[in-house]
Amino acid sequence: MSEFSIIEKYFSVLGRARKDVLLGVGDDAAIVDTSSLHALAISVDTLIENVHFPASTSPYDIGWKSLAVNLSDMAAMAATPRWATLALTLPNTDKTWLTAFSTGFSDLAKLHNVQLIGGDTTRGNLSISVQIIGNVNEMNALRRDRAKVGDGIYVTGCLGDAALGLKSLSESLSFSLTEKDTLLTALNRPNPRVKEALQLQPYVNAAIDVSDGLAADLSHILQKSQVCGVVDVDAIPVSELYGRYSQKNHFHDLALCGGDDYELCFTVAKRHEKKVQLEAKKMGLLCTRIGDIVEGSGLRLKQKNETYKLQQSSYDHFKE
Ligand code: ADP
Ligand code: MG
Repeated sequence: MSEFSIIEKYFSVLGRARKDVLLGVGDDAAIVDTSSLHALAISVDTLIENVHFPASTSPYDIGWKSLAVNLSDMAAMAATPRWATLALTLPNTDKTWLTAFSTGFSDLAKLHNVQLIGGDTTRGNLSISVQIIGNVNEMNALRRDRAKVGDGIYVTGCLGDAALGLKSLSESLSFSLTEKDTLLTALNRPNPRVKEALQLQPYVNAAIDVSDGLAADLSHILQKSQVCGVVDVDAIPVSELYGRYSQKNHFHDLALCGGDDYELCFTVAKRHEKKVQLEAKKMGLLCTRIGDIVEGSGLRLKQKNETYKLQQSSYDHFKE
């Protein structure tokens, strides 16, 4: 298969056909209509085999996740995703792989009204770079540097299942088949909180998506906002399965440091906290208060009013 037939067959029509795409895949560049927009939000993320996903990951899941991690960045800004580009490096042209990969990407793109408008296709070790472009009114964008002393710290969903899923691939853990399936779905098919973020945005001061682990990601908010965060480790929301397993095996830190959750962590001024809970309830979204923003700097973890010490650290690509 030639480069051009791959593009034509698998990537020329992906996701939702949007009216604001004036020229999509096939020319030297795509053209989109931005005349009705305030501002653009733009982000890119790369997934590399054996770094971001194990080689055993199904191509459908790789396609899904490569877009999901980018949509999660849009969610963290309260931006609405519109267009994506895809730079794909493949070791070979495996038709079954390409069909499954492009279907996973497309299925998630359709759910979020996103169209693939361009990209690049090359040969080499498997690597996937997705750029996402969305719109946001700059006044409403959720940033990392707006947390205020007195804010409550919140997180959506449950943390740690994805990290536990990853662990279940390399270690023999005593999960039933359905339990393992649940954990691997959390790892491979994250559902980025795009709609939820838009709904909560009016009440939120600062936000980030949880991709590298809550401790690391919340620390970015704290640093950029020049405040201190006090988090009650026992308040961190985990699934029943995670809770059961971590208690037995002393894995408490996975929910704090594991990563791949793609939930939102955000801060809310006191006067808006009730409203946030109300909006979350309306959406059927689990939204948990895990701590407070106070004066000072850095992240302070506590458990039953004692200082809690992390036993592991978050992922860092360049850590020595
Ligand atoms: P050029 O040589 O001008 O860089 P390419 O041959 O790389 O153009 O790409 C041809 C067209 O196909 C372009 O519109 C490009 O955006 C698109 N394209 C290439 N690879 C992909 C891909 N993996 N996904 C989506 N569009 C792609
Ligand atoms: Mg090119």
